[in-house]
Amino acid sequence: MAHINCAHDMTLLFTILFAWLALVAGLLIAFRDRLLTLWHEPAFKAPILIIESDDWGAGPLTQAEALSKLAVCLNRYHDVTGRPACMTLAIILAIPRPEMAGKVTLADAEQLPVLNSIRAGQAKGVFAPQLHGMMHFWPDALREAASVQTEVRTWLKKSELTEQLPSHLQSRWTNAANLPSKPHSLEDVQAAVAEEVGLFKSLFVGVGAPLSKIYADAARSPLAPTDLVVVPPTFVWDSRVETAWANQGVEVVITPGCRLTCRDADGKPGCQDKTMLNGNRGSGDVIYLVRDDYFEPVFGHRPEQALSALARKTILGRPCLLETHRSNFLTEAGGEPTAALAALDDLYTRALRDFPNLRFATPAELGNAIRTGDANWIEQDPRCRFTIWLRRIATLPRFGKVARLTGLLPLLNLFARSDLRP
Ligand SMILES: [Zn+2]
Repeated sequence: MAHINCAHDMTLLFTILFAWLALVAGLLIAFRDRLLTLWHEPAFKAPILIIESDDWGAGPLTQAEALSKLAVCLNRYHDVTGRPACMTLAIILAIPRPEMAGKVTLADAEQLPVLNSIRAGQAKGVFAPQLHGMMHFWPDALREAASVQTEVRTWLKKSELTEQLPSHLQSRWTNAANLPSKPHSLEDVQAAVAEEVGLFKSLFVGVGAPLSKIYADAARSPLAPTDLVVVPPTFVWDSRVETAWANQGVEVVITPGCRLTCRDADGKPGCQDKTMLNGNRGSGDVIYLVRDDYFEPVFGHRPEQALSALARKTILGRPCLLETHRSNFLTEAGGEPTAALAALDDLYTRALRDFPNLRFATPAELGNAIRTGDANWIEQDPRCRFTIWLRRIATLPRFGKVARLTGLLPLLNLFARSDLRP
């Protein structure tokens, strides 16, 4: 009898084992594309904190003072290599001015205080300008909307803060005069991109000091500080715009992790046509980076939230790009520094304390590190990459839960680097 029971037990055991293997194989096959994409996503070695501040540039001259205060604040904090904190500035190159051939740009004399403030920070390595757009809207769309909307007509009369425009009209790379929005013609896209990239290059490329002059340990990361980075206004753009950027020398595009190509019938960003991870390539071989965390003190965001985003991203081998806007830092001329500036001080102090190997960098440098596979930044050790990959796949919706319940993740974790285990 014992003999028969033993055979029966063995059959049962093999059946369970076979069922488990079939389940796990099915799970891996069903999610293979996403598992592979996460494997190929570069894993950054150190915690990286980049605060990305949008909408600076042509506009109120009070920006000059706000930028100078920001530069002083950033220069108080240095990472483990001695490099100062660097904030990216997404730059708007012009604002409309009917009496001055349609627009006044950052190159015009009246905007000189703003341009000088940006360049001074750039030379110190605390600002990294990135192209946001010639204007934070499509001029023809705005003119069309102004013919029927009083709100837009009024704005055009004193057009300094594009933040005050209706949200859908702030998109540049789709015509949202009427909703749902319509794509621009290819010729219009190419001409507009060529004009704005040309002006951006003439104002900012080659202005930054060599990094060896900014911080002592620059040799640890041979960088390309002049790489062109674009932040699409309102994160609405399409592949034709991407190709036009690439043709003009743009190498990195900041994304929210997906590409939205229109404004829908309600004016919301829509028509998503792809998703992306850090290091994925777009049209013209541009490199995507993902910015999906926020630090907007005017909206009540606390340094604690930014720090937990940094912790979350670091565990997954990703840089932490925090989105913010100039509206947090603008004050009346001669006014007291904003509360956001104090929050920024708090954030950098605690980030450097909580993450002793924290690195400051720019998206241009990260793009370059990804392109060249720079071992100073990108993890090369297979077991470290495997450990980080396990953490990433555990966050995949549905897959993570099933992989835990089936015991697959706990099993794979036995092969992870224990010193890297969160
Ligand atoms: Zn913007």
